[in-house]
Amino acid sequence: MNPFAYSRVDAPDAAIHALLQNAKFLGGGTNLVDLMKYGVERPSTLVDINHIGLDKVQADANGATIGALVRNSDLANDPGIVANYPLLSHALLSGASAQLRNRATTGGNLMQRTRCYYFMDTAFPACNKRKPGSGCAALKGFNRIHAILGQSDEGSTSPHTCIATNPSDMNVALYALDAKVEVHGPKGKRTIPVRDFHRLPGDHPEQDTLLRPDELILSVTLPAAKFAKNSWYLKARDRQSYAFALVSVAAGLEMDGDRIKTAGLALGGVAHKPWRSAEAEHALEGKPATEETFEKAADAALAGAKGYEHNAFKVELAKQCVVRALMQASKGVQAS
Ligand code: SF4
Repeated sequence: MNPFAYSRVDAPDAAIHALLQNAKFLGGGTNLVDLMKYGVERPSTLVDINHIGLDKVQADANGATIGALVRNSDLANDPGIVANYPLLSHALLSGASAQLRNRATTGGNLMQRTRCYYFMDTAFPACNKRKPGSGCAALKGFNRIHAILGQSDEGSTSPHTCIATNPSDMNVALYALDAKVEVHGPKGKRTIPVRDFHRLPGDHPEQDTLLRPDELILSVTLPAAKFAKNSWYLKARDRQSYAFALVSVAAGLEMDGDRIKTAGLALGGVAHKPWRSAEAEHALEGKPATEETFEKAADAALAGAKGYEHNAFKVELAKQCVVRALMQASKGVQAS
């Protein structure tokens, strides 16, 4: 690990002022410290933000405000979240391990970096995300966990190939729930809809999000709860726990009798950011909650999907996961 300086701040304003060039915020450190050990991240300074507050959850049926430093386990078990946003609670509990959830923060989860093998291992020289312009080892390499939607590859206009996926479970639920991210920087505060917070790779796969280097995430807010009675988080993975999703689906339905009034549907493990399809939601809204409706929504969500040598199976897997998650959501919510 490269040598680095450590500083500790006690307020959000102090945190922003402490951000020198090539400094990084240290929250739970569950991703950043690993990447520093591997030599992928090499900050000159770590600014410890664990003592600046931002560690409270306020949640009821009218909305939620989640501090950026709320731990994943605290958020998953918060009574207001469990009662009103069970989709978020279940997504969080399906991620990582109990020990990691006790440490990992809401803001850090939003900023998680891909687990692409070639990004994580500096022995591989070709990775456009780690070293722009160097190429993409995953495209012709082992690409089982990689993207099938929204990627930059040989068929796109971008010269900078990247087929990485966002590894988070929490983010997938936040997309389905229409969350917003409150951030603070030298120019003041701004609010970013979470669906715009993360980027597709395009010409700059090295940039995961729209957060500026001098900005701090303050909180995540949720609108009034619509899916408290009908939602499901489904995660398909290679083993039952402590594994990233091959495909995940966050499905929320607001029902009007047997018909779907509104829907929130997002997929994880399939793209550089959680994949929310307006076409799929349109295919659900106003329709009866039947398998046929759900199959049409799955086709809409996966329109244009394209796999590679080792992950082509994910296209059909994702469709089946969408149908199953919607079927389960139409029947109720997961047991806590
Ligand atoms: Fe790097 Fe993206 Fe290619 Fe992985 S998929 S090797 S992160 S450029």
